[in-house]
Amino acid sequence: MSELTDLYAQIIGCTKCALAQGRSNAVPGEGPEKAQIMFIGEAPGFHENRLGRPFVGAAGKFLEELLASIQMHRDDVYICNVIKCRPPNNREPLPNEIEACAAYLDRQIELIKPRLIVTLGRYSMAKFMPKASISKVHGIPSKIGEFLVLPMFHPAAALHQPKYRADIENDMLKIPKILAEADGVERVQLDQHAEQLNLF
Ligand code: URA
Repeated sequence: MSELTDLYAQIIGCTKCALAQGRSNAVPGEGPEKAQIMFIGEAPGFHENRLGRPFVGAAGKFLEELLASIQMHRDDVYICNVIKCRPPNNREPLPNEIEACAAYLDRQIELIKPRLIVTLGRYSMAKFMPKASISKVHGIPSKIGEFLVLPMFHPAAALHQPKYRADIENDMLKIPKILAEADGVERVQLDQHAEQLNLF
């Protein structure tokens, strides 16, 4: 068993928070262990809970279209979520649920070692940039610790809202250049960057 499949087994058997009781399936994540890009969404929804796979509903279809716009397929990238079990009625994740799942996501990042982490939506962005406003930082890559992080809007939000849809489509198109330049991106002090972006 690889360390990643061992981690999946832990997630599937997890009872660390109350979401375990309501799930049909935990949704650990999927993609190649050597993926260069990791997409991190918020939480499984109805279809994900049913199938045990991330982004398989409408938001997932849109994510696949966005990937196709940069000649990529979902099998080329790693896809997971901040929390691994569906919250009731798709409500937003609670702090204790995020906390209970944090070690799983940390371990996924450690094992995959992606060259680029793309956060989808506010909850995923908050893991790396807790005080940032997504409207201000989306589409701007930042070096956070050892990782290059690109915040984007959540595909579910962008799908039906034209102003976010154009943004997420444009932000996705930046990925090939960001990856090409990744080695040249300088480590940016977070507070310096925040000041530059007028975040705080
Ligand atoms: N939305 C998410 O954030 N994650 C999924 O897996 C599906 C929809």
